[in-house]
Amino acid sequence: MGYVIGADIGGTRIKTGLVELHSNRIMGVRVIPTAGENEEMLLNCLQKEIQELTEDSGISRNELSGIGISIGSYIFPESGIVDSMCGFMGISDRYPLKEVLEKRLDLPCKIENDARLIGYAESMFGAAKGYERALTLTLGTGVGVGFVVNQEFPDKDACIHLSGHIKVREFGKESALDSERCYCSVEGCLESTCSGTALQKMGRQIFGGDITNAELFQMAGDGERKALKLIEKYLDYLAIGLNQYIYVFAPDVIVLGGGVSKGLKPYLSYIGSRVKASIRSGYTTEIKLSELNENSGILGAASLFFERSQWKNENYKPR
Ligand SMILES: [Zn+2]
Repeated sequence: MGYVIGADIGGTRIKTGLVELHSNRIMGVRVIPTAGENEEMLLNCLQKEIQELTEDSGISRNELSGIGISIGSYIFPESGIVDSMCGFMGISDRYPLKEVLEKRLDLPCKIENDARLIGYAESMFGAAKGYERALTLTLGTGVGVGFVVNQEFPDKDACIHLSGHIKVREFGKESALDSERCYCSVEGCLESTCSGTALQKMGRQIFGGDITNAELFQMAGDGERKALKLIEKYLDYLAIGLNQYIYVFAPDVIVLGGGVSKGLKPYLSYIGSRVKASIRSGYTTEIKLSELNENSGILGAASLFFERSQWKNENYKPR
């Protein structure tokens, strides 16, 4: 029982990884594009990936403790029921994913919200290690928010999973973003402004074609003025969101992850100069970048089977 499979089901890709339990080392990773119109297609796809992952790594089935699943929706962790998918991958509301998967794979299965698991993984193994109150923002297809206190979830389920939709700007002034409304009903929300998808829309409006966020950051790094101006505007919006999160969550650290964070290293001091919220004298919230990046979803999903006490870090930084 030395291994667990972590499966990270995202809007763009499904990533599965085999993780060694005692060391949290990822032994092998498989990535496929997310495709599916109904639950059956997702189940078939997961089953195939898990089978090939175990075959590739040469481990036997009885060495597997189970499968941890990370998915972007409201999860009821105990029952493993998935809710609020808004039609994502054809999964219906209140779908009993844990029960169905356990029957099909004949292995224990645990399911959690993706942003919560990323927050948990960062606090255990990544940039938030050693901090008491850690808020993690994943700037990817959407904006995921995870909050962890003392390396534990303060809420029993993912009740803040849509808090990436706080308002950060007036609606109607960003034509690249506002041609369609976000499903959340908060016009000018953070997700529709600061997700990787949103940054790409703004980049393509200025530079056309199929420019990627990585290319945009490269251009800004090379001193291209329009690219630099766009990134600064993006970060100004992001900072409006971060200041609000500080007043609500009082985090000691905010970890920025997801695809966009890969380009943010040169801009940490710029972000810091705009994040001024402080809950009391002498209080500051550190802004850091994810140290786990691509693997945080797999590691977070696998961690559902970890013996948590093994990774507990009692040496928190004093506040
Ligand atoms: Zn929204």
